[in-house]
Amino acid sequence: MGQRLVLKFGGTSVGSAEAMCQAAEIVRSVQADGHEVAVVTSAMSGVTDLLLGSAHAAVKGARLTVVEHTAAIRTRHEAAADKLGLRGDDRHLVLDPITARLSELSLLCDALGVLGEASPRALDAVGALGERMSVHLLAAALRSRGVTAHAVDAARVVRTDDTFQAAVPLMEDTRRLAAVELLPLLAAHEVPVITGFIGATADGVVTTLGRGGSDYSGAIVGAAIDADEVWIYTDVDGVMTADPRVVRGVQTLESLSYLEMSELAYFGAKVLHPKTIRPALERGIPIRIKNTFNPTHPGTLVVGRSDDGGGGLKGVTAIRAQSLVTIAGRGMLGVPGIAARAFGAVARTGTSVSMISQASSEQSICFLVAEKSAVTVIEALRTEFHHELERRDIEDISSLDPVVIVTVVGGAIKRTPGVAGRVFGALGTDGINVIAIAMGSSECSISLVVASPDADRSVQRLHDLIVAG
Ligand code: ADP
Ligand code: ASP
Ligand code: MG
Repeated sequence: MGQRLVLKFGGTSVGSAEAMCQAAEIVRSVQADGHEVAVVTSAMSGVTDLLLGSAHAAVKGARLTVVEHTAAIRTRHEAAADKLGLRGDDRHLVLDPITARLSELSLLCDALGVLGEASPRALDAVGALGERMSVHLLAAALRSRGVTAHAVDAARVVRTDDTFQAAVPLMEDTRRLAAVELLPLLAAHEVPVITGFIGATADGVVTTLGRGGSDYSGAIVGAAIDADEVWIYTDVDGVMTADPRVVRGVQTLESLSYLEMSELAYFGAKVLHPKTIRPALERGIPIRIKNTFNPTHPGTLVVGRSDDGGGGLKGVTAIRAQSLVTIAGRGMLGVPGIAARAFGAVARTGTSVSMISQASSEQSICFLVAEKSAVTVIEALRTEFHHELERRDIEDISSLDPVVIVTVVGGAIKRTPGVAGRVFGALGTDGINVIAIAMGSSECSISLVVASPDADRSVQRLHDLIVAG
């Protein structure tokens, strides 16, 4: 029986006319198998960077950079339109909106140049333009294969709050909008091609879900239309035991649980945006990660439960350029509220904490933040605790950087005795010093902090352990 599917294509999967043809061929054949298909697309690879680069250049008055970036973006899209062989009406249907978006880019950059600053809202208006262009090319590539496809701007479907740059989807509104904008197309056996990464507030102001957020869009749309599955098409065969760009001998994982995928993504595996899991999990929608350029490979299935292969460990990942912040002092012992005040002070700087670890003696709290935020965070903590520092209840607030969080993930960590021992043993025999540790209450991951120069070696060692099983 036919299923209702969301197929999401990432930046490299729509990065050129050839890639778009490949993506379009996948959609055509999935639809020909009798499935209802909604497509979500990213911007062409590199375009979002060029757009945001233009915005930042405009603020600094670097007009030449804006002109160069705009020309590069125009050339990429026009070359793709040429190679797709678009003629007549379809050429206009594609190039007219792209030209309009490029004019919008110029106007926005002029405005940013005059203002001399870019608000999160303005950055979203600029950053959203990439998907608002690529969507027309992909829809045309589908039409040229005989699939009735329509470009759909997610501003009409994905309703969000106004947290610009990290907008939160309002799912009830989005379901209602999707019922109007998408379901009739699916019922008519037509394919909506929806812009990933973006949404809009109730007032129609464009927002973005955060960098890499098109995966999240795929899951949001999937949840809104009650899809049977969401397929994320990227440029690798699926989720691997480690980042293939960093580690030798990686293997593609057949399946992962939502929790395992969520930990891997949160702790740095770029293959899926970490927020993608929640809408899928809430509605029990399986996610498949597949390769646009190797479509017959089964890819990785992410579902509620998964087997516990790999000796209890599934993958290893790293978050680089981190700073380990420590608040230490004997006067903290048994004093209630220190942690709450510390994290309150950090939160007020708008910094998110990637890992926390507290020694049981309560004489120190340490946590990790991005290295670039360390100075601001330390200042905020020194202000918050200036009395305690004067009284020497807190002796020191300091940071150690750059450090790296290395995380091993596997659902069986909690069930298999000795896993943590094997992890530390593997690093110990290699003479790698572990600076801090955290094991989430989910017990599906163990995170270790190591000095930057030890990071690649740690990841490789732990990967060897996973593959050895
Ligand atoms: P897309 O543009 O399709 O969203 P991304 O570049 O965001 O693609 O994500 C895919 C990339 O993620 C891969 O090319 C790979 O280099 C990287 N990656 C990092 N960790 C992993 C992992 N554990 N498994 C697979 N890919 C990974
Ligand atoms: N185009 C957006 C970005 O580069 C979203 C995505 O590709 O997932 O961040
Ligand atoms: Mg991505």
